[in-house]
Amino acid sequence: MNTTKYIFVTGGVSSSLGKGIIAASLAKLLQARGYRVTIQKLDPYINVDPGTLNPYEHGECYVTDDGAETDLDLGHYERFLNVSTSQANNVTTGRIYQSVIQKERRGEFLGKTVQVIPHITNEIKERIQLLGNTGDYDIVITEIGGTVGDIESLPYIESVRQLKWELGDDNALVIHLTLVPYLSAAGELKTKPTQHSVKTLMESGIRADILVCRTEHELSDDLKTKLALFCNVKKDAVIQSIDASTIYDVPNMMLREGLDTVTLNKLNLKDAKEPDLDRWNQFLQRHKNPKGKVRIGLIGKYVELQDSYKSILESFIHAGAENEVKVEVVSIHSEHIDTNTIETTLSDLDGILVAPGFGERGIEGKIEAVRYARENNLPFLGICLGMQMAVIEYSRNILGIKDANSTEMSKSTQNPVIDLMEDQKSVTNKGGTMRLGAWECELKEGSIVGGVYNSKIIEERHRHRYEYNNDYREQLENAGMAATGINPDTGLVEIVEIPSHPWFVGVQYHPEYKSTVANPHPLFVAFVKAAHEHAKEK
Ligand code: GLN
Repeated sequence: MNTTKYIFVTGGVSSSLGKGIIAASLAKLLQARGYRVTIQKLDPYINVDPGTLNPYEHGECYVTDDGAETDLDLGHYERFLNVSTSQANNVTTGRIYQSVIQKERRGEFLGKTVQVIPHITNEIKERIQLLGNTGDYDIVITEIGGTVGDIESLPYIESVRQLKWELGDDNALVIHLTLVPYLSAAGELKTKPTQHSVKTLMESGIRADILVCRTEHELSDDLKTKLALFCNVKKDAVIQSIDASTIYDVPNMMLREGLDTVTLNKLNLKDAKEPDLDRWNQFLQRHKNPKGKVRIGLIGKYVELQDSYKSILESFIHAGAENEVKVEVVSIHSEHIDTNTIETTLSDLDGILVAPGFGERGIEGKIEAVRYARENNLPFLGICLGMQMAVIEYSRNILGIKDANSTEMSKSTQNPVIDLMEDQKSVTNKGGTMRLGAWECELKEGSIVGGVYNSKIIEERHRHRYEYNNDYREQLENAGMAATGINPDTGLVEIVEIPSHPWFVGVQYHPEYKSTVANPHPLFVAFVKAAHEHAKEK
């Protein structure tokens, strides 16, 4: 018999309340009590996956080991839990409909009229139980994107209603996250929006078991009593979630509020051990008591929206704690960098990271930033497009190939030092067709990366179409840009370094997707260390 328990997290009143962080924090506490937990996100939009979305829409596209292009919340899940997620952990309405329509075309519905209920809801329920049915998890937490009452969320909410009824109260529960706003003119916290939101949920046949209330001020005992009364929940199931200075405080805050204990009681899980948060708290201790500081420039073109580079920013938090320094990330728009502004913009930095990206906009600023880091011995990390820019910069300014470029930016360049990968040449569809997911890479002994990773063969996650052009490898290596990481099967160059520079590394993959609280990414740790050394020398 399958005994997996299911927890659904819905949201009300407003978006951006942090459902993902609440889900990840609860998961962390349950994991710390010895349960095997995973989290899944259901997104109500019609894109089949977020891979085709501009970062300005929903922030960064996160990539899993198995090559799923997913919502950035999966990054939080992995960073909190230190377990890998997969294709099954993120499902969109587009994916659900695509699958149902394919089944219809194959004739699998045997002449039936295909409808939202039961065909779409069955597909959703199947996807929710997919993770539970593997037998790998005691508890599956499913976060429903959007806000209750949205037209788009209805099939999901209906699926939750059906599943809760089918599984029974001991095996499934609903946590509803709402906002309790503070009206400064009245000097009061207001519960009415929460009451309405719970009512909207009730109209869909779902009674919330636990209320998590986002608030800027402490909820008084009276207010909790009132919320319990009006919203049909027990008082110990009214959980306050007050603004935190860092998302990494939220698990401890939820522990103090008893979110994990009400959850376990309601799910009839009786033999939980005390939570072991030692590793987590050591990290927090170091994060909050830095002994030094470094300033790192993040050069990108989506810098107006912090979520665009979420995993990179979080990786710096992990690496900063590991080094016991505060990493101040200075976001710099690559379109604002040119030969006139470069000195004033970059001169007080201790390290430069050139970010991933697509398309031509802002490219020349990125190349200038690479040149600045190279010429001034500033620690440099280039990620994906950032690595490609480093190769272009070296070709132009050291090899003297003035028109060196990527065919992504100039189709007709005579010197495509970065070129479309061979197996991409026949690809016409944009969605899900990049080189995605984890690939092996063999590291060269004696290189920076050779010392940073604890292993000769590593696996890192990719998301790109273009690559280092091996036709230029001999020239580049002879002129001092070493290829220090190679894909053992294809010979693709995945890492470049400049051995004569104190710390210059460009990687074709995305190390930021694999940094977690329990396992800060070694490359970020080493980069921050190099930047700190640079800062001390100054
Ligand atoms: N646009 C580049 C490519 O497709 C880099 C992609 C990235 O930075 N993720 O190769």
